[in-house]
Amino acid sequence: MNKAKVIIIGAGVGGLCTAIALQQYGFEVKVYEKVKKLGEVGAGLTLWSNALHVLRALGVADEVIAAGSKLQRSQIRANNGETLFDARTDEMETKYGEPVVAIHRADLHQILINALKPNTLKLDMNCAKFEQDDNKVTVHFENGEVDSADVLIGADGIHSVVRKQMFPEVQLRYSGYTAWRGVVETENEAALGLTSESWGRGARFGIVRVDKKRVYWFATRNQPIGEKATGEQKKSKLLGIFSKWHKPIDHLLDSTPAEIILQNDICDIAPFASWTKGRVTLLGDAAHSTTPNMGQGACMAMESAYVLARALNEESDYRSALKRYERERHERTAWITNTSWSIGKGGQVENPLLIGLRNFIVKITPAGAMQRNLHKATGYDVTK
Ligand SMILES: Cc1cc2nc3c(=O)[nH]c(=O)nc-3n(C[C@H](O)[C@H](O)[C@H](O)COP(=O)(O)OP(=O)(O)OC[C@H]3O[C@@H](n4cnc5c(N)ncnc54)[C@H](O)[C@@H]3O)c2cc1C
Repeated sequence: MNKAKVIIIGAGVGGLCTAIALQQYGFEVKVYEKVKKLGEVGAGLTLWSNALHVLRALGVADEVIAAGSKLQRSQIRANNGETLFDARTDEMETKYGEPVVAIHRADLHQILINALKPNTLKLDMNCAKFEQDDNKVTVHFENGEVDSADVLIGADGIHSVVRKQMFPEVQLRYSGYTAWRGVVETENEAALGLTSESWGRGARFGIVRVDKKRVYWFATRNQPIGEKATGEQKKSKLLGIFSKWHKPIDHLLDSTPAEIILQNDICDIAPFASWTKGRVTLLGDAAHSTTPNMGQGACMAMESAYVLARALNEESDYRSALKRYERERHERTAWITNTSWSIGKGGQVENPLLIGLRNFIVKITPAGAMQRNLHKATGYDVTK
């Protein structure tokens, strides 16, 4: 399908990686993003070796590694600080040829945007709807603008308007827990030194260094969906929930400016049969949204971006390209979504007996068995 025109809705990790990959093959690409200004996204992201293979193929892996922080060790801990499981994350690099990297999201976005050809990305373009016929697909934006192409990719996230038009029956599924996130500059050695996720009663707290000075933290807690809170309210709630947990959690929360704390109710979409209608398909969270328990949502968006661009390049028409894309992606992304959902259920347990049992099992399980799913997710190179 060389020299075809492709429109991508959404300049998240998925949309940007797809655009870069398509431009490498010579496609004409337009990316339309609804926000007026690409701001600081106040959170970190863990990119596993499987994502680094894609970034390598896109020509930006070294920049991402330089801007981020390679993970050396990762621990699962009890909320009193006891180590339940200790893994050498740096062994992934030896085994799979690419490291595991944590990076500030804003830094990653900037690197991806810089890799686009000039005038590819247009902001302040809120996609309202599309229509298609035998010759083209036409996209209508809220501001009255219109554009047409051979193929449309909805990479517009978990609340995708493209998906809602194609498959209105597909619904989000609430996990039962909300997540808060923040990034903070610190000199605290404990915070800078170790990647960890600590488990308590219906709550978790994670700590990941994203560069020389900054640490990304995330926290979860079981509660009903839909809480609305100011920055100050979020911060004081978090200080309350985690007040008796191990150090340096209180330090990280204390030193985070209240106004940058993000909160998302954690949802995914149960894997659904097809992502495509005619010349329109979905990618990333719009298609295969997952809970963040394996840290693989953005990694999956990157893998899908690479596979979709390769299929469009190698197949002679959009029908066979989109069919091949789904064939190559459906099973793996469904496995990630379902496995991540189950891991989240274990991490959010509230019954004290089950918590004791869970922690005991994690402690006595051999590393190989504990990491089986992690290696299945990470030790995969979609570019081969
Ligand atoms: C708490 C938490 C922690 C996470 N941690 C990790 C991690 O460590 N590692 C990992 O790999 N993944 C992680 N994820 C998952 C990851 O954030 C997502 O999977 C990833 O961002 C999906 O990328 P995307 O491009 O598909 O969607 P998005 O990043 O959501 O991007 C969609 C884009 O589309 C735009 N858009 C939406 N609607 C429209 C419209 N109508 N018109 C135009 N533009 C539109 C949006 O503004 C946005 O820019 C985490 C998620 C959460 C919630």
